[in-house]
Amino acid sequence: MDAAFFRAWIAESAAVVESQRDHLTQLDAAIGDADHGINLARGFSAVTAALDQAATPTPGSVLRLAGSTLISKVGGASGPLYGMALRQAGKALGDAPDVDASALASALEAALAGVQKLGAAQEGEKTMVDALAPATSALAEALAEGASPADALSALSAAAEAGAQATISMQALKGRASYLGPRSVGHEDPGAASTALILRALRDVALRQAR
Ligand code: ADP
Ligand code: MG
Repeated sequence: MDAAFFRAWIAESAAVVESQRDHLTQLDAAIGDADHGINLARGFSAVTAALDQAATPTPGSVLRLAGSTLISKVGGASGPLYGMALRQAGKALGDAPDVDASALASALEAALAGVQKLGAAQEGEKTMVDALAPATSALAEALAEGASPADALSALSAAAEAGAQATISMQALKGRASYLGPRSVGHEDPGAASTALILRALRDVALRQAR
């Protein structure tokens, strides 16, 4: 996977975030302040503009620029958290011109570590971690079992989606939704939902390329 692959992932993410903007905002209206879709759509459109203007010759440079842009352009909890995730992933990829699926798995582990360092959320606390953590494990496990990159990324996406769905029955213990206490139960976490969308975009770009 080269820089063009990672730019395609970001472009696909930007498109899906834009098309699901209202859905994500509605999820946030139920347990937050109704801005998650707006925040992410604004952030990814700034990322798209930044990638159009700067040379990003390596996978790592694509993710580092995307991460820094999200940090500087998105208010709210999710901008710094997603920005941190992408920056840490980009750092983990270093300056290699091409990375394999196992390097991508390590990068996603670094992204998860970054999110948890910044936000201090554990699994089960109804945040994006509940999508990102099982997805990251599923990718590593699939690769360890000898799955193809495309199949391993399908496992990643399926685990993220299942993780996001599992947040419905959780009580929020981190972020704005935690102010609702037990009333946060019964709603999907917006950040877990957007994480599942972004990881599905990764799978879709990989499947397209594998064809
Ligand atoms: P804000 O909550 O500031 O309005 P957003 O609505 O854009 O920001 O994002 C909310 C999402 O951020 C939540 O659904 C949750 O997934 C994620 N989030 C909030 N706090 C944390 C945290 N401490 N760790 C991980 N994710 C968090
Ligand atoms: Mg919000």
